[in-house]
Amino acid sequence: MDRPEIDLEFDPELHVFVPAARRAPRARVAVDGVSSLGHVVESLGCPLTEVGELLVDGAVVRAAHVPARGEQVTVRAVTRPQALPGPARFLLDVHLGTLARRLRLLGVDAAYENLDIGDAALSARSAAEQRVMLSRDRGLLHRRELWAGAYVYSHRPDEQLRDVLTRFAPPLAPWTRCTACNGLLRAADKAAVQQKLADGTERSYDVFAQCADCGQVYWRGAHHARLEEIVTQALTLSPQSAAGSA
Ligand SMILES: [Zn+2]
Repeated sequence: MDRPEIDLEFDPELHVFVPAARRAPRARVAVDGVSSLGHVVESLGCPLTEVGELLVDGAVVRAAHVPARGEQVTVRAVTRPQALPGPARFLLDVHLGTLARRLRLLGVDAAYENLDIGDAALSARSAAEQRVMLSRDRGLLHRRELWAGAYVYSHRPDEQLRDVLTRFAPPLAPWTRCTACNGLLRAADKAAVQQKLADGTERSYDVFAQCADCGQVYWRGAHHARLEEIVTQALTLSPQSAAGSA
């Protein structure tokens, strides 16, 4: 039987999701006259969280549009920075622990599950707490319950951080959040937290903060230069935040 076909073109940024045969310049894709364009795009492997504008014959359509025979469809990647329906808060899956700690270092609200609680529980938490689900798992990003989601494109923490910062431009407030638990830090004086410190630490460093949630004490220690470097690099990506924290 002669099934209707459309011509589909994906933005090069989205090629990572689609099989080689579906990539540029255009691919012929059979449609059923019932399924939405959003469904067609997802069924080719591309999560809708990564899709910006959908164009049919040059005009923007919604994901619910049902494609018909002969339509020329263009699938664009999300534009950066991407607007969110609320504050930029995040939820990271079990594989993104380093990224979670770096976001917290920058003061970004980054909840993290260090156990694999499953896609259903993660997407429910994203919805309940209005957090952007960050993951490299496409299946998770297909879930309808998500408040918002984003694919993390790189394996490397440096690139992952740049990816999230350029995509959502969250306000940065370095050194204000606990990298261990995501709680907020408050100023601490050395005398009050002395019993938590090893002898060498007590002699060498000035304590500057303590987590209001878990009690973790922070001081300017051996790793500080590396952390300063991460903060400095992040602030160059986000000039507004840099001005605000100067
Ligand atoms: Zn904490």
